Amino acid sequence: MKRISILGATGSIGRNTVEVIGGHPDKFRVVGLAAKNNISLLESQIRRFRPEVVAVYDEAAAERLRKKDLHVEICSGEEGLVRAATLNNADLVVSAIVGSPGLVPTYEAIRAGKDIALATKEALVMAGGLVMAEAARRGVRVLPVDSEHSAIFQCLNGRDMKEVEKIVLTASGGPFYRKHISEFEAITPEDALRHPTWDMGRKISIDSATLMNKGLEVIEACWLFDLPPEKVEVVLHPQSIIHSMVKFIDGCVIAHMSVPDMKGPISYALSWPGRFDAVLPALDLAAVGELTFLAPDTKKYPSLLLAYDAIRTGGTMPCVLNAANEVAVEAFLDRRISFTDIPRVISKTMSGHKVLKSDSIDTVINASNRAREQAREIIESQESRVKS
Ligand code: MG
Repeated sequence: MKRISILGATGSIGRNTVEVIGGHPDKFRVVGLAAKNNISLLESQIRRFRPEVVAVYDEAAAERLRKKDLHVEICSGEEGLVRAATLNNADLVVSAIVGSPGLVPTYEAIRAGKDIALATKEALVMAGGLVMAEAARRGVRVLPVDSEHSAIFQCLNGRDMKEVEKIVLTASGGPFYRKHISEFEAITPEDALRHPTWDMGRKISIDSATLMNKGLEVIEACWLFDLPPEKVEVVLHPQSIIHSMVKFIDGCVIAHMSVPDMKGPISYALSWPGRFDAVLPALDLAAVGELTFLAPDTKKYPSLLLAYDAIRTGGTMPCVLNAANEVAVEAFLDRRISFTDIPRVISKTMSGHKVLKSDSIDTVINASNRAREQAREIIESQESRVKS
């Protein structure tokens, strides 16, 4: 019986994780649940799994949940997330909190010796060196839940990394890969939230439309597989059937295919090194018909180049990229900036950043907070220019 704590239990990955775990009551016990503020869904998960500890990030929402008398310890804030991440009784922590708030709980879970099923790519984008070093020190496994990284992990299957020439991350291209660049300025949040192949949360849907999601995944892959950025390629593959590939030194390529459904990578992280039965519908290649590929147009998707710049620069720069992107995406969803302003805000924030060595989580978080302020200032100064 594997005992699991799920951070981000009410989000898209969390809900899928709950479904997978619910299908294997003989294999898993949920001991911890953590969410931001969706307490109605959290309440139904508590009643179903009877965990030992529940964390609600939002204090007011935690207070409302406490009034329901659910006979479970309910904690709150970042401290609460860390409590759920470090439970004595947990063997594995599913890290699926959206964005930078996922870093500290994930890091603390590793420090507590918990294996990690990692969906929160930001933990590696912000502090990949620190996170992977800590995991190595504690003998902790970091099992990828991101579909591309799960695909690479499955293609590599413990092979010697000396045999690897490159890894190739596939990107659906989001909803706009056919759109002409001249139409990008007018893209609305509604347009960008309509993803053609994957059903995901709001933040990651926007990141997918700008290709920043792929940029963050390049950085994630560099840390996860210990590769320099020049060994990580991106190719657009609109059908989202091949989830990523490994090119070997002899010229052979191994690709990982399935229907696009996050239950695939989630199940693999939970069942590893084995596999569960009947997780996904059978892949009918004749019905798919064609698999197509094209190189990403970096004029349309400057965010991808910014991510490569950030990881090449190293230190605190990837963390600054991520922070500025989070602020810019929020401003886009609030209709304060345009779609094409997102990479502009990130680029300006990065230009203004003095790179530091990422020698502690505090250094990383300070850089992130400062970058968020700078990105906000850039957005405000742009708004005041538009008004005047
Ligand atoms: Mg992904």
